[in-house]
Amino acid sequence: MKKDYEVVIIGGGPAGLSAGLYTSRARLSSLLIEKMGVGGQIADAERVDNYPGFPEGISGFELGQLMHQQATKYGLETLLAEVTGIELHEGQKEVKTTEGNFATKAVIIANGSERRKLGIPGEEKFTGKGVSYCATCDAPFFTEKPVAVVGGGDAAITEALYLTKFASKVTVIHRRDQLRASRILQEKAFSETKMEFLWNTVVEEIKGENVVQRIRLRQVKTGEESTLGISGIFISVGLKPNTDYLKGVLPLDAAGYIITNDRMETEIPAIFAAGDIRRNSARQAITAAGDGATAAIYARKFITE
Ligand code: NAP
Repeated sequence: MKKDYEVVIIGGGPAGLSAGLYTSRARLSSLLIEKMGVGGQIADAERVDNYPGFPEGISGFELGQLMHQQATKYGLETLLAEVTGIELHEGQKEVKTTEGNFATKAVIIANGSERRKLGIPGEEKFTGKGVSYCATCDAPFFTEKPVAVVGGGDAAITEALYLTKFASKVTVIHRRDQLRASRILQEKAFSETKMEFLWNTVVEEIKGENVVQRIRLRQVKTGEESTLGISGIFISVGLKPNTDYLKGVLPLDAAGYIITNDRMETEIPAIFAAGDIRRNSARQAITAAGDGATAAIYARKFITE
């Protein structure tokens, strides 16, 4: 066991960073453990237009850095490590990580979700060779080349719009005949001349020699199959909670999300959850930040009272 903390926060996205801001301002010794780098999923967003306080928008990366800077100013410590498990002991919890184990009075779980995969032939083989899950990261590789985006949610349409700045053509492939994305994004997408839509269509296989060259498609209503030549395919079909390490520790719902009450308390005393990882999260940076603050406030009450 390395060091004891009053609060250990798992995850460095808006939920974890806001929790850390509140716990460190409450003068609780606080450690935030993050696997990749602070910011979480928002760090991949080229521009965030719906976080209050930034009327001109802000890059997701910068927003994450600013949140981290603010929390660090009040004493939040950060460790880059992967959490492998939580052990429940009477009066304290032990958070196990790849960089050692930490004893704590309370845990705030805020390590979000990751992008879901399609699970089709060619997806794994061509990841990094034309298959991508992040337009902000990879769009420049497809300058003046045709690409496809799979999905119809906010993320898929945001990615597709960003890709139009680079690619020669962006084909959005959606399994239904209506987008799930917000109206404002739909309006932008439908007026973008570089974008085309294939409705009621699913991707069956990704093919190529060394890199992606084409995809095999199926129209779900007619069953008709076709092939589309592309250089890149961006998969944006929703999220999966990062709770594998919590199985058997906490009750999870059928999709793997953590169940909390409106104080962000789980069924286990001293364990809180915040942000995308909890059931019924609105999955926005601002709601995650709100969850993090709420979790921190009730964690402080738990510890001090
Ligand atoms: P999402 O809203 O769950 O949308 C996932 C999309 O992928 C849906 O269109 C879904 O189709 C499709 N899909 C799911 N599984 C599929 C499969 N196996 N094959 C083909 N298509 C499949 O997820 P998201 O777009 O990643 O967004 C996640 C959350 O982040 C949302 O709450 C969203 O509002 C938020 N977000 C917000 C912004 C923003 O405000 N600008 C940007 C990004 C994300 P169906 O429609 O048929 O279900």
